[in-house]
Amino acid sequence: MAYDPNNVFARILRGEIPCKKVYEDEHSLAFHDINPQAPVHILVIPKGPYVSMADFGASASEAEIAGFFRAVAKVAADAGLVETGYRILANTGRHGNQEVPHFHVHIFGGAPLGRMIGKVG
Ligand code: AMP
Repeated sequence: MAYDPNNVFARILRGEIPCKKVYEDEHSLAFHDINPQAPVHILVIPKGPYVSMADFGASASEAEIAGFFRAVAKVAADAGLVETGYRILANTGRHGNQEVPHFHVHIFGGAPLGRMIGKVG
């Protein structure tokens, strides 16, 4: 799947749409999800044009991958979630119900989150 430069997160990265930013560095941007599913619900996105986890894992540089996952851990820590715990999630493709075609990791926390996902299949 080709990267769509007009997806909503690309527009946030270009400053065309506002976001409630919580962190930014060379490789990553983190902001609050517009429709939170937990008391803390933050999205972390790479700045590069990667459609999904599959694309990011296959095509991003070592520095982008390392920088991105360090940013995810830092954002969760800065949100005060390490002691109580949290969950990260990256929806990918059709079965993953990915809505926005720019790779992103959800960080959920601030309350007990239940087990994994509802049973499927
Ligand atoms: P998904 O692609 O299914 O992993 O989820 C995309 C997420 O992006 C959803 O949780 C949306 O609520 C969130 N979202 C969509 N548009 C925005 C926006 N403008 N600012 C912040 N979060 C957004």
